[in-house]
Amino acid sequence: MKKEARKAVIAGNWKMNKTPAEAAALIEEMKPLVKDADCEVVLCVPYVDIAAAVEAAKGSNIKIGAENVHFKASGAYTGEISAEMLTASGVEYVIVGHSERRTYFGETDQTVNLRTLAALNAGLKVIVCVGKTLEQRELGYTETLLKYQTKMALTGVTAEQLKNVVIAYEPVWAIGTGVVATDDQADEGNGFVRAAVAEAYGEAAAEAITVQYGGSMNAKNAEGLLGKVNVDGGLIGGASLKAADFSVIVGAASK
Ligand code: PEP
Repeated sequence: MKKEARKAVIAGNWKMNKTPAEAAALIEEMKPLVKDADCEVVLCVPYVDIAAAVEAAKGSNIKIGAENVHFKASGAYTGEISAEMLTASGVEYVIVGHSERRTYFGETDQTVNLRTLAALNAGLKVIVCVGKTLEQRELGYTETLLKYQTKMALTGVTAEQLKNVVIAYEPVWAIGTGVVATDDQADEGNGFVRAAVAEAYGEAAAEAITVQYGGSMNAKNAEGLLGKVNVDGGLIGGASLKAADFSVIVGAASK
């Protein structure tokens, strides 16, 4: 399968930004700008914005995602949200294992795997984030770590379920810093992720899976990054909070 045959996915990650009213207003602004997209357009929003976002996106090509999900179905897990709660709220995608969750909230490869399985079993599409730090890159561990994280996250995921998985390669040093990976670094990292999928599921599955790049992608650098053979889309933080910038990235993925 050639890059052109893979589904490009441009997903915004709003992080801890926007009230429900602000979320609805931003989606109204984005709708006409992305309506002709030839890629999947996803906005992952804070839990409290989901209802407003789903309502605002109705009838458009924008899919709504969440930024995390708990791995248990229900019970005494104060502050957590289950996969079933998300699907019942109209959510189609969920981000799992974002580096901010790994760094600030104790997320491990094991919990990333559990969340991935819970989300897939509930019928959600999962954007699994993998990445490594600058120190790890400088020590030469990029390939080893990316392959390890990818395989750990996917443990127990069936070949059929893999069709609902998108993997986002996000170098930690490039997230929210304005320091973007070069086009070639992004392509190389995404290639390591694809190679890990090939080792676990075979070449055909690896060729079919959507692998995003994430880390300071913006309206100016998106075209170069998305032009690379292994870059099938982007996970966008800061630039997804501005309708004009986000729509330029969606446009670059639609070429
Ligand atoms: C992200 O949050 O996944 C991200 C890539 O953020 P930013 O685009 O702001 O670097």
